[in-house]
Amino acid sequence: MSILIYADSNNGALTKNAFEAVSYGAQLAQQTGSSAVAIVTGTVSGIEDLGKYGVSKVLHASDASLDNFDPQKITHVIAEAAKSVGADTIIFSHDYSGKSVAPRLAAKLDAGLVTGAISLPNTDGGFIVKKAVFSGKAFAFVEVNSATKIVSVLPNSIEKKIGEGSATVEAFSVEIPSTNLKVKEVRKESTELSLTEADIVVSAGRGLKGPENWGMIEELAKELGAATACSRPVADIGWRPHHEHVGQTGFAIRPNLYFAIGISGAIQHLAGVNGSKVIVAINTDAEAPFFKAADYGIVGDAFEVVPKLIEAIKKLKA
Ligand code: FAD
Repeated sequence: MSILIYADSNNGALTKNAFEAVSYGAQLAQQTGSSAVAIVTGTVSGIEDLGKYGVSKVLHASDASLDNFDPQKITHVIAEAAKSVGADTIIFSHDYSGKSVAPRLAAKLDAGLVTGAISLPNTDGGFIVKKAVFSGKAFAFVEVNSATKIVSVLPNSIEKKIGEGSATVEAFSVEIPSTNLKVKEVRKESTELSLTEADIVVSAGRGLKGPENWGMIEELAKELGAATACSRPVADIGWRPHHEHVGQTGFAIRPNLYFAIGISGAIQHLAGVNGSKVIVAINTDAEAPFFKAADYGIVGDAFEVVPKLIEAIKKLKA
């Protein structure tokens, strides 16, 4: 039996989430004594690097029509790849592409699907997957009994194992169907760090008073190599772009370090960020709810604290 892992890419490069999914699949293969094979679609470089994450073979469906993400086409390619390697388990990252392809594939293959796994399945006599529910407030253990199993892995929830291996890349040729996709997603080229993949996120809210004050947030993010984010009202009033909005109705993120600056910590905001490994809250109000969720809290004015932080980081780096 074998495990197939979809390694997604963006602008011709494998994503951080792809490496995580591959590491997860390779660890599961080791646990169950199966083989692990990755599948990559479209024009992508650096595919051999997947070997370091534990797979010895990568199938590459390089047809250029797969460059623009089309979940119907990708679903077809992965279904064919699963057939060709005899995969009984298929792994995705629980990111944008995994969320749209995994359910389609589950319907196509009549497979059981668990989304957002946070650890390796328990395979002692069954297949039980742990996932976080109710915005991370509880855990569910989902047993999958179907012959084919699909699991999507929550980004930043597992430790990647990196070794010295290298993978053999095999061309995987498959007829690509024409699809009737109503919405076409074209991934824009961008030098900005992806919010959902960033290790560090600097986020600010209404406490910043106006869009003209975001310079210090961007500077702090730049010094830390971080992505920027914001609370919902800030995006709603147009101080920041909507793609920075995190929370229940925005992106859910799980960085290693999350700075919440001038954000009250409403439950709907926390729903999208409380999976962060370390939270630092900066707020003038000592009673702000964010301090209950934070690992470190600074009661103070962002306009005084943030410039001091930037200065201190610059000194450390000098
Ligand atoms: P505020 O609540 O106005 O808080 C500003 C904070 O800044 C305060 O704590 C204040 O003490 C502090 N402050 C003020 N001045 C300073 C200063 N100089 N220095 C430091 N701190 C200062 N919100 C989200 O963020 N994401 C969501 O996805 C989301 N989804 C929602 C879904 C629903 C259905 C609903 C009803 C609401 C949703 N909200 C969401 C809104 C949420 O309830 C809060 O209203 C919102 O998060 C508050 O944003 P804020 O903390 O930036 O602003």
